[in-house]
Amino acid sequence: MKNILVICAHPDDEVFGAGGTVAKYAQEGYKIDVIIFSYGEQSHPWLKKHFVVKTRIAESKDASRILGTKSLTFFGLGEGHFEEDSKTKDIHNKISAIIKRKKPVKIFTHSIDDPHPDHKTVYNTVLESLKKSRHKCDVYTFDIWNPVNLGKRKTPRLYVDISKTFSRKIEALKCFKSQKVSMVSLLWSVYTRAVTSGIQNSTKFAEVFYKAK
Ligand SMILES: [Zn+2]
Repeated sequence: MKNILVICAHPDDEVFGAGGTVAKYAQEGYKIDVIIFSYGEQSHPWLKKHFVVKTRIAESKDASRILGTKSLTFFGLGEGHFEEDSKTKDIHNKISAIIKRKKPVKIFTHSIDDPHPDHKTVYNTVLESLKKSRHKCDVYTFDIWNPVNLGKRKTPRLYVDISKTFSRKIEALKCFKSQKVSMVSLLWSVYTRAVTSGIQNSTKFAEVFYKAK
């Protein structure tokens, strides 16, 4: 059995960053487990926390079903407090144990160049946990908030042709109804990015990842 892990900071990062790829690998028979550090409750500071958490879990589950992932795990860390919460919740050991159990062939996570501090922390935590597990596999990173990748020209890349699963990515993104305010511009940027990466890959749509390990 071939396993893949996708590890990200907030609900919907996995869809924005790697949704087309996840759907494609799932169709090819890979078992994909998604780990999300937080519930993304700060996205709606005006709503009660438990309401937002429930909504975002439900949205993520819907999106997961569309992409065909096997499992979805939330660590429930506080946004902006990943470093402290990781220590109190023993996150390094948890991820390392999951890696040992699943023996993934690939791990997808945030890029170190992503300016969002939560995204950076996830990247560091994943690499440290992988080291701890002593498991060897490729780690590929995706960008959420940094559309232009200056300085990464020499980094090995993985292009994944998502021409057949791009519509699933869009469908999955639309599950995040509570994020509607920012959705229109985000969908546009998702489209533009998939087309640009597609041109570089000579396919209609593509997702690009940078190899971290
Ligand atoms: Zn995020």
